[in-house]
Amino acid sequence: KIRTRFAPSPTGYMHIGNLRTALFEYLIAKHEDGDFILRIEDTDQNRQVEGAVDIVYKTMKDCGLNWDEGPDIGGEHGPYVQSERLGMYKGYAEELIRLGGAHYCFCSEEELQRQREEQGDSFKFDDPCKHLTPEEVQAKLDAGVPYVIRQTIGEIKETTFDDEVYGHIEVDVDTLDEQVLIKSDGFPTYNFANIIDDHQMEITHVVRGNEYLSSTPKYNLIYDAYGWKRPIYVHVPPVMKDEHHKLSKRNGDASFQDLVAKGYLPEAIINYIALLGWSPQTEQEIYTMDELIQVFDIHRISKRPAIFDIDKLTWMNGEYLKHMDFDRYYELVLPYLKNAIHSDIDLKEIAKLVQSRANTLNEIEEMIDFFDALPDYDVEMFKHKRQKSKKETAVIALKEAYESLSSCDWSSEEKIHDLLMALPEKLEMKNGQVLWPVRTALTGKQSTPGGAIEVAYILGKDESLRRIQTGIE
Ligand code: GLU
Repeated sequence: KIRTRFAPSPTGYMHIGNLRTALFEYLIAKHEDGDFILRIEDTDQNRQVEGAVDIVYKTMKDCGLNWDEGPDIGGEHGPYVQSERLGMYKGYAEELIRLGGAHYCFCSEEELQRQREEQGDSFKFDDPCKHLTPEEVQAKLDAGVPYVIRQTIGEIKETTFDDEVYGHIEVDVDTLDEQVLIKSDGFPTYNFANIIDDHQMEITHVVRGNEYLSSTPKYNLIYDAYGWKRPIYVHVPPVMKDEHHKLSKRNGDASFQDLVAKGYLPEAIINYIALLGWSPQTEQEIYTMDELIQVFDIHRISKRPAIFDIDKLTWMNGEYLKHMDFDRYYELVLPYLKNAIHSDIDLKEIAKLVQSRANTLNEIEEMIDFFDALPDYDVEMFKHKRQKSKKETAVIALKEAYESLSSCDWSSEEKIHDLLMALPEKLEMKNGQVLWPVRTALTGKQSTPGGAIEVAYILGKDESLRRIQTGIE
């Protein structure tokens, strides 16, 4: 059975690249009816952020990335929070020492510094402790000399492996340093903990960013030393801001939370990022999660870095909003409508008006604010460019509209429609020469969701007449 895991370090927000990794992990597992595991990697105490784990949970739930095992729901391979696993890594490291894959290192910071200065840029620590006899090691341990445990890289010939995305990978032996596995405080480094955790949790496919490609041979040596089966590796290219820069929250690029705050829907974000670096065999672009699970194929993950295109996401978000069930749509936009409108206007009617027009939720407020208060506008706006209408004609049309709407009972949109649509013929004008100034007078804007009739109906009789009057004056 396929088992994948998402192993975020809780930072207080969800980076788009990490969310896409989580999505790929989820899809790879679910495509084969496998398990998707959530593991929290919180051992870097310096990076702890209050409430950050809850943000991970919430993000994943909002996105429909439901885990089969994890800190909150447990499972057979727990605990699923790294800080609760700290006790076990040391024993594994000691076993690795016995197996020849690691050794104690008692070198001081000064020794490291000395070598660093000596070697300059090509620094690779040459650990004298590798050559200590077992008795010397024991004596130092007994004397309480502080130590770290380092990986031992012996004479190796082979550093290659096959990655599902990048294919055959060859890493230069010289770059493999004898990394620290257990720090002097007794805690594991990421490089060690990820191996132990993935093994213990029986992870079959390790999916992560391609920045780990060059470390993977070192991890493989450790798997080999224990006699454990190596996992299948699926390294994914980064999500880019442009050709040269990674998308990065630290450099001010949007996180998942930022996008949601800007009015994007989790399902649209998920749909969009599924297509970042992965492509289906068809032209289809809109996918439900179930459809993604069905069609997802590891072999169609591209090794070319994908560029995050906010315009494409915005378009896709609009597709989701337009095709959403109206009741759910209304619930979603209500807070935005209430924010923009303070009178007792029918908000449901406004929601109907904007559903087919807004690409993001937070652009709605600006679209509809004229319902709340008529903005200052320039009477020059009565002139319609294409219709070549004059200001004078516009005022005639407005006066006539005022007259005829005064007798309207406003019980339906049709009534307003019939009255207004009778005017062009009567005045020997084109439709636009009447409707354009009326809409302008009602809204004070050149572009609005809905035309004169729809807007007038929602505004109500008193307010509509008042605004048309203002236009005439
Ligand atoms: N905690 C690591 C990160 O957030 C996980 C990397 C991995 O998937 O192994 O980068």
